[in-house]
Amino acid sequence: MLTSEGAITALRTTGLRITPQRRALIGLLADNRTHPSADAIAAELSQRMPGVSLTTVYSTLHEFAGLGLVRELDLPGSMRFDPDTSDHAHLVCAECGSIVDLPLTSETAAIVAHPPLVRIDRVDITAYGRCDACAVTRDGQSASDR
Ligand code: ZN
Ligand code: MN
Repeated sequence: MLTSEGAITALRTTGLRITPQRRALIGLLADNRTHPSADAIAAELSQRMPGVSLTTVYSTLHEFAGLGLVRELDLPGSMRFDPDTSDHAHLVCAECGSIVDLPLTSETAAIVAHPPLVRIDRVDITAYGRCDACAVTRDGQSASDR
């Protein structure tokens, strides 16, 4: 999981300046488990730094992804950003739209066959269903009973 200290160190190591925008974005992303979209990040950032452009947010997020500080998740509807770059899968909840981390079992980690000449850089596994809160609501009471 990305921490503010780790990210600042990584930027320094690569020779990038710690601009106020970069520092604020790191603050928003560190320990953030909501898998925010660039739009959501820009909306939150603009409250702290009025006038920051969406273009700046996009390019900085892309830059962070290139440095391996965040993982880009190409999900239906929008690109999401995950400061947890460890191997894990995601569940997209059809009810509330939240994106929840799912651990990989040894079987899902080995889901892709690996021919000798193929080089796999990463595997994205996305499941679609209901998060635990929404699954309980649906299987327990109907919305009209509540
Ligand atoms: Zn849900
Ligand atoms: Mn995640």
